Amino acid sequence: MLKNNLKLREKAAEEKRQWVRITRACNNDCLFCLDQEAHNGKLVPITEVVRVLKQGGKEGAARAIISGGEPTLHPQVFEIIRKARQLGYKHVQMISNGRMLAYENFVQKLKEAGLDEVTLSLHSHKKNDFEKMSGVKGSYLQAMRGLKNALDNNFIVSVDIVINKINYKTLKETMIFFEKMGVSEFDLLHLVPFGSAWKNKDQLFFSSAEAKKYLHRAFQLGKRKNLFIWTNRLPAAYLEGFEELIQHPIKMSGEIKGMERNFLEFVKSGKKMPCFGERCEFCFLHDFCADLSELRDKKFLEAKLAPPCFVQKKAPKKVFKFTKNFDIYEFLKFFIDHRYFIKSTGCSNCKYDQLCQGAQINEIRSKGFKILKSIKK
Ligand code: SF4
Ligand code: SF4
Repeated sequence: MLKNNLKLREKAAEEKRQWVRITRACNNDCLFCLDQEAHNGKLVPITEVVRVLKQGGKEGAARAIISGGEPTLHPQVFEIIRKARQLGYKHVQMISNGRMLAYENFVQKLKEAGLDEVTLSLHSHKKNDFEKMSGVKGSYLQAMRGLKNALDNNFIVSVDIVINKINYKTLKETMIFFEKMGVSEFDLLHLVPFGSAWKNKDQLFFSSAEAKKYLHRAFQLGKRKNLFIWTNRLPAAYLEGFEELIQHPIKMSGEIKGMERNFLEFVKSGKKMPCFGERCEFCFLHDFCADLSELRDKKFLEAKLAPPCFVQKKAPKKVFKFTKNFDIYEFLKFFIDHRYFIKSTGCSNCKYDQLCQGAQINEIRSKGFKILKSIKK
């Protein structure tokens, strides 16, 4: 089961996708919006949208993902979908808060334009919690109608849920609620310490020790054949027993791309990243950033050693050297293959706990945390 699932996930992770933002505006005011600083209320001109779509086509992307802000606010959204189709995209997907989909006529037009899939951000099935997070009264009913219309019009529908202090206790019930409506695919997103999420951190961030048992109830649903769960930026430490849900590490390249300028500035000048500080401990890129900093100081970084409990063939130890032709994506590859290591809860009882750094992420994704055998003190 683990392996079959993994194959499917590897394939999906390797698929080339072209994201295209079509608005810098939104009709929600989500507590954890990552994008709010980029919102200026404007629409992206269609010429720019087409340029990005063409670029993706040249790079071999078969899937176009239309996003915003809120993409349904763009008056030319239908034309943009049609254009994506004409440019040869085999699959066109849209990320939306679902409110505009409450209008049936609008949904039919999306269908006619050639849209295949909608991903709706629906963070709870409970009205009060939903509107506390969306920041807009009345958004719950509209979004639920939107979901129903999307399902009735035979779109592929998936639901995004940002896990936070308001909804983690009812995550399982939320997924069951949407499953009963006809949803079979969920993407569970971890909070990141940026944008509004950081401003509202006291309302949103939660203790992992307290949340784990509620999250595991929800992850358990992914064991069903007809329900598919993805996770996004969720630390592997939450996923013991659910290793097939650990996000493919290659997805980190998207995060790096979004901050590439800042990383390169840091590498060049040593100037700290603008986000460096209090938020690092909550950040998915914490270990990557720490390694980058160490590399810059020492000018080289060695591969981590396989753990004593997990015998591997001896191979020459890899070293990454810092040169003036530094390439951040080459470094990311080295980081993933040789430095992105994780440990299990059982490691705290192991005599090597203080010395050992765990096992490489892909070993754990494919074989599970069970390969780590705690050694008696
Ligand atoms: S870990 Fe890196 S990317 Fe994350 S907040 Fe800190 S400096 Fe920024
Ligand atoms: S059980 Fe954990 S701490 Fe012990 S050797 Fe294995 S990975 Fe290292």
